[in-house]
Amino acid sequence: MDLQPVLNSVARDVAAYLGEGEVARYIPALARVDKAQFGIAVRTVDGTESCAGNALTPFSIQSISKVFTLALAMRSLGDDLWQRIGREPSGDPFNSLVQLEHEQGKPRNPFINAGAIAVADRLVSLHPDPKQAITAFVSDLCDATITFDAEVARSEAETGFRNIALANFIKSFGKLDNDVATVLDVYFNQCALSMNCLQLARAVGFLCRDGAHPLGGGRDAVLTSRQARRINALMLTCGTYDAAGEFAFRIGMPCKSGVGGGIVAVLPDQLTLCVWAPGLSASGNSAAGMRALELFIERTGLSIF
Ligand code: GLU
Repeated sequence: MDLQPVLNSVARDVAAYLGEGEVARYIPALARVDKAQFGIAVRTVDGTESCAGNALTPFSIQSISKVFTLALAMRSLGDDLWQRIGREPSGDPFNSLVQLEHEQGKPRNPFINAGAIAVADRLVSLHPDPKQAITAFVSDLCDATITFDAEVARSEAETGFRNIALANFIKSFGKLDNDVATVLDVYFNQCALSMNCLQLARAVGFLCRDGAHPLGGGRDAVLTSRQARRINALMLTCGTYDAAGEFAFRIGMPCKSGVGGGIVAVLPDQLTLCVWAPGLSASGNSAAGMRALELFIERTGLSIF
């Protein structure tokens, strides 16, 4: 199937919805982003790439980074990772504190902030320079030099009172091995990775290739096929904040969103895609991005179900 005409029609039709939602104002550096932007990129398992709109404009990937840090931690730790992190949807907001109290500092899943902070802690233990390990990993996945946006990272650190509270709370239960400030520095920076839609569609390619490197060509596998399946399962059930049920119902693909307005989606064995539109719905997911995914599914007939 030639996907370029589909992407062109999605980009054209979604333009009417770009006014929807609000940019993430709680991170000052994101509050200034122009809402009238939309990008979409697709990469099929055979490496065919198609783009439309602002697919090459870099944006703050925010929580999409949680997919990469999870993959990096799973590579080294295997099933040991799950001793301190659960695999259930939280049903609470992504930055909620209450659940952690009830569950003695064990975050529900790796895609809520508490879970990603716990993953960052493991990366600090595993890598002498965890931030460098993250940029090296993501850069290799999409064959580009990916860096942190220092202004966004600073902005998060200055206003991330809830994340600071979450990290301290986990630490108080003895479930964070490293210094809170060091772990948060990794977390704030991973959220501040700057990438475009095409780079993201490439970088998550291992999830539609049973863990094999997205770019193939004899490169080492990223994960085992079992690990890749598990990340897809977590994305389907926990990847889009409190709207995971709605995403499964309306879109039917494992997705991970970020408050920068990006959403990555996976159709195992077929393709990966990324949409970006900065206006967020009340659930924190890109409003126009979600509509674009729905249009894509409707016009291609693709689904995991
Ligand atoms: N940096 C954001 C935060 O920690 C990430 C949130 C997100 O994209 O879900 O609040």
